[in-house]
Amino acid sequence: MTGFSSSLPTWLDDEQRVFRETVRTFARREIQPLAAEIDRTETFPRSVIDKMGQLGLFSLAIPEEFGGTDASVVTQCIALEELAYATPVASLIVSPSLVMSLVLRYAGGEPSARCLKRLGDPGVVAAVALSEPGAGSDSASISTRAERVAGGYILNGRKQWVTNGGIADVFCIFARTGSTEDRAHGITAFLVDSGAVGFTVAKLENKMGLRGSTTAECVLEQVYVSDENVVGEVGKGFGYVMRAFDVTRPMMAVVALGIAQAALDAALVYSTEREQFGKPIGEFQGMQFLLADMAIGLESARAITYEAARLADLDSPDTTFFASISKSYATDVAMSVTTDAVQVFGGYGYVNDFPVERMMRDAKIFQIFEGTNQIQRMIIGRQLGRWAREVNGS
Ligand SMILES: Cc1cc2nc3c(=O)[nH]c(=O)nc-3n(C[C@H](O)[C@H](O)[C@H](O)COP(=O)(O)OP(=O)(O)OC[C@H]3O[C@@H](n4cnc5c(N)ncnc54)[C@H](O)[C@@H]3O)c2cc1C
Repeated sequence: MTGFSSSLPTWLDDEQRVFRETVRTFARREIQPLAAEIDRTETFPRSVIDKMGQLGLFSLAIPEEFGGTDASVVTQCIALEELAYATPVASLIVSPSLVMSLVLRYAGGEPSARCLKRLGDPGVVAAVALSEPGAGSDSASISTRAERVAGGYILNGRKQWVTNGGIADVFCIFARTGSTEDRAHGITAFLVDSGAVGFTVAKLENKMGLRGSTTAECVLEQVYVSDENVVGEVGKGFGYVMRAFDVTRPMMAVVALGIAQAALDAALVYSTEREQFGKPIGEFQGMQFLLADMAIGLESARAITYEAARLADLDSPDTTFFASISKSYATDVAMSVTTDAVQVFGGYGYVNDFPVERMMRDAKIFQIFEGTNQIQRMIIGRQLGRWAREVNGS
């Protein structure tokens, strides 16, 4: 199946169009045929990770001086959406590198420069560990501690839900260097290698979807991190990662849209093939309206999401607002589109002979991570309140 191809966004330049075609061809040829097997075996082939590395997908957010391509946020979104069409697991293996590259860029300094160069090596996989068993939406309340010792820090604590936790080479770990009352201001980012003494992957989660993506619980027991591996300024780590989320939220939105596009395409094909009452089900108006609503959601979400990515590229003051709008809207649309795709397949949608049940399972998490959609609405609502007060002069 070649797939329905959206003309949005219309304003991509020639280079971006060529890049989209390159990643699309790669993802549909090399990854899409493996998607069901990746889900079933909960394993993503190392050989494909290496090929994604050779294509430069892990180094999109790395400056050229450190061996990356310094791609725009829009270009990064293009890559992630195309990978997600094949399977969002591929996007999720790449995306922590993009988040980490941004954190390192915002932080600056020698440790960041060294790590950026390393992340540019094909095949080096990254993980970003902020969440903890007791600190999810309220991530400023983390309790992993970093105690000052001669030449560095000793880290103790437990990190939950670490994407790539089972396969990453390098982890960006957020730990408390200040007091609990300091909240966000007492958090510092540290670079920890997967083989560091005292660092263990305690558990891999058994998930509803994204089953080929490892999500780990990581334990830190007396892990020594030298000063050369402290990212940026002490106490500023939370600020770096929150700024990165403004950029990566549209990226999670496009991954959800990639899944939804694949679900719509599968539903469209099925609607022409499956016959009931003597004709293809796609000829019934009830089906056409369902498919039309899927396309309406998908295209409007894609438009706002790429606009949010462009605002991030422009470093617009509205970046945070539109990042949250795109993340919440596109991921809600993806959940609805994938659920409707199962409906189009009827009973066959509910079994794993067809891909739509997997897509529905994969879509759900996008409403939850990178800030739940309730948290996105809090951010949007707060900004609306600020503007309302400005208008009121209060
Ligand atoms: C598969 C997967 C991968 C992940 N990858 C990573 C990763 O790589 N790195 C990382 O650091 N984290 C990661 N996470 C963690 C993810 O970001 C958190 O799960 C998410 O932030 C929500 O936190 P929580 O699960 O503790 O839910 P909670 O914060 O406990 O929320 C529970 C419910 O309460 C709601 N809620 C909470 N506070 C409010 C509020 N103020 N107003 C209204 N509603 C509220 C939430 O929206 C949610 O519906 C991942 C999670 C999963 C499941």
